[in-house]
Amino acid sequence: MEQQRFILDKSGNRWLTKPPIKINRARCEFSRIFIPTEIIPVNQTKQIDLGSYDKIIVAFSGGKDSLACVLHLLDNGVPKEKIELWHHDVDGREGSTLMDWPITRSYCKAVAKALGIPIYFSWKSGGFEGEMLRENSLTAPTKFETPEEGIIQVGGTRGKQNTRCKFPQVSANLSVRWCSAYLKIDICATAIRNQKRFNGKRTLIVSGERAEESKSRANYKIFEPDRSDNRDGRNQRHVDRYRPVHQWKEMQVWDIIKTYRIDPHPAYHLGWGRVSCMKCIFGGANQLASIFQIDPDGFAEIAEYEELFETTIHRTDTVTERAAKGTPYQMDEKHIKQALSKEYTGNIIQDDWQLPAGAFGESCGPS
Ligand code: SF4
Repeated sequence: MEQQRFILDKSGNRWLTKPPIKINRARCEFSRIFIPTEIIPVNQTKQIDLGSYDKIIVAFSGGKDSLACVLHLLDNGVPKEKIELWHHDVDGREGSTLMDWPITRSYCKAVAKALGIPIYFSWKSGGFEGEMLRENSLTAPTKFETPEEGIIQVGGTRGKQNTRCKFPQVSANLSVRWCSAYLKIDICATAIRNQKRFNGKRTLIVSGERAEESKSRANYKIFEPDRSDNRDGRNQRHVDRYRPVHQWKEMQVWDIIKTYRIDPHPAYHLGWGRVSCMKCIFGGANQLASIFQIDPDGFAEIAEYEELFETTIHRTDTVTERAAKGTPYQMDEKHIKQALSKEYTGNIIQDDWQLPAGAFGESCGPS
């Protein structure tokens, strides 16, 4: 029997043969389509046959790790028509602006357009703020965009009435850190379960958690059935979860973004090392000081809620006390304006790509 030969690519991935594509990186187009089979790193035993999936959905926050996931799929020759980006709008679409960067939605759209990949948004009605203000009431419905049926709404009529009236707890435990579960994880699963187009199909959900980010993330599996999987059920919906950058170092993430010359989310240019919600509950003192400097009104909303709930996000200090202990990043006007705008007007593909100020910096974010 012929001996199999393995080679390592620059990202440390192992291949049976040479990576079989040529990419015109300037235009991000494939020179030819093929059925890719990725052999993931040696210390992981599972072989992911990317070509065996009908659809590959990337949970796309707009942050560097989810961006690296998309580019990694392209690098591995996945045809664009198989890929969808899904962004979960943390503030919803009902008017709340409490948590997220104003630019995020538009930035995500701009990346999708530049790469020629469709993007669909999904959210909990009322977003983070609505869920936080629940008082003896049901959780709000989930809404999600679809390719052919417009926006679909499900849920909101059954379940347990509950009261929150406080911020999520800063914990790796998702039952008390309810924002990740209610505003992202459940939203994604609901959108899969309630679209018939996934029934009888093989779907891969790709997300960008990395082991380096936290102890808890280090324990995540690289590959497993997704919570929306129903392969043995009546509708035979096969859904797997894949975390392709789980073992990557931050350097590898920036390397692939540089290779494609994609402008990272404006918050990285301001100095943030991780980008998710602007006012993430995991935000450090320097981030809070920076937010206070560039968006005092938005900062005040968080401080007011802490007072109203008589419970601080941090174990002991209010956000105001924490901001006072921090030092704002050195932020330039151009990027402040961009981050606080609702319209991304820059060029996603940069001729003169520069590593942003936040690269390799503070890594405050969900654990
Ligand atoms: S980014 Fe932070 S605040 Fe936003 S959903 Fe995740 S953990 Fe919650």
